Amino acid sequence: MTCLVEIPTALRALCEGELQVQVPVGNVRSIVRALDERFPGFREQLGQSFAVAIDGELIHDPWLEPVPAGTELHFLPVIAGGQETQVSVNAAYAAPEDVEAAVALLAEAGSQGRVLAGGTDLIVQMRTGQCSPQLLVDVKRIPALGVCELGTEVLRLGAALSSAVLREQPEVRRVFPGLVEAAELIGSEQVQGRASLGGNLCNGSPAADTVPALIVADATCIVAGPTGMREVPVAAFCTGPGETVLGTGELLVELRVPRPPARTSDAYLRFTPRSEMDIAVAGAAARLELGDDGRCRGARVAIGAVAPTALLVPEAAEALVGSDLGEDALEAAAAAVRAASRPIDDVRAPAAFRTHLVGVLSKRVVRIAASRAAGEPG
Ligand SMILES: Cc1cc2nc3c(=O)[nH]c(=O)nc-3n(C[C@H](O)[C@H](O)[C@H](O)COP(=O)(O)OP(=O)(O)OC[C@H]3O[C@@H](n4cnc5c(N)ncnc54)[C@H](O)[C@@H]3O)c2cc1C
Repeated sequence: MTCLVEIPTALRALCEGELQVQVPVGNVRSIVRALDERFPGFREQLGQSFAVAIDGELIHDPWLEPVPAGTELHFLPVIAGGQETQVSVNAAYAAPEDVEAAVALLAEAGSQGRVLAGGTDLIVQMRTGQCSPQLLVDVKRIPALGVCELGTEVLRLGAALSSAVLREQPEVRRVFPGLVEAAELIGSEQVQGRASLGGNLCNGSPAADTVPALIVADATCIVAGPTGMREVPVAAFCTGPGETVLGTGELLVELRVPRPPARTSDAYLRFTPRSEMDIAVAGAAARLELGDDGRCRGARVAIGAVAPTALLVPEAAEALVGSDLGEDALEAAAAAVRAASRPIDDVRAPAAFRTHLVGVLSKRVVRIAASRAAGEPG
């Protein structure tokens, strides 16, 4: 049994000029996967900004919507700005005061429930019709999600902690300058007052600024759900654009970041066409540990906005460890970063430019992290 998919104009070249294709019935998610297998890159190019109509009826929360045999499925662009598709935000609201109550509400609501932290991604998505949850579970009033505690071994960051609060922690900035500089790149003063670290990660954007910085810091997610708590490395948390490992009823409670060894520091850089209020066209983070001889003893390099998720690039670290961080080692690390990246062409930048950029950024960010690790002002 099959249904018919109308190929969006922007994706017709990728789909070999096809206007309509028959695919096996399923739900929107399985159909997108099938199209991605047939036309590699389909899912990435479709991105997150689309609405779905089945036989002409707009579906507000499309991913799990069944697409029956004989129906016609259309992907519709959602245009931010001028022609924005305005959809009224109409959902029930709950503000539990502990993790257990939040998990119970989310589990009961199933696919109709969504966590609301700062709302700087979620409310925009609701207003443009990309999702329409029936229940918003506001987690900002849960004390465990507002924690910011730097201990002797670990930094604990509550998932709902805002960038504005994080950037006011001088000791955290001293130990994790790259993580704090990533958080303070988000949006504007106003956006940072609401935007949380957990929201930046759980939104699943490949361009989220704090994610590469959290990955190089080797951070772990503490997740609560109906069956208890579990831990997931940040590097494995996002599975695709807008997708994470979180299951029904699960809530990100906290990020735990181990204190780095001595003579270790980090940095994050991104490129945006505008100086602010724009998301990364490419981003790179590095954490460098120096030996007593000044050579590189340990390294972690991660990249953002150049693949469906932020990526750790172990080959870049291998090129740096044991080296004197001279030009040859930096160029080898940049080559590894370029090889690992799988960017898309879009309105913000062509893929080849993103690949070039991420190599340049990775060299710069390694130099900054190394000079910070050496105790030089960076
Ligand atoms: C004008 C503007 C500029 C921006 N600039 C940038 C930028 O420069 N860089 C950048 O990276 N981002 C940017 N953003 C995006 C956004 O501000 C960030 O991603 C922000 O960190 C999201 O956090 P939030 O608390 O607002 O998340 P919300 O919008 O509340 O949530 C985002 C998503 O994560 C889920 N979620 C949130 N918290 C949890 C949790 N604890 N457990 C499970 N799921 C959760 C929500 O259900 C939702 O799906 C910008 C947004 C705007 C509006």
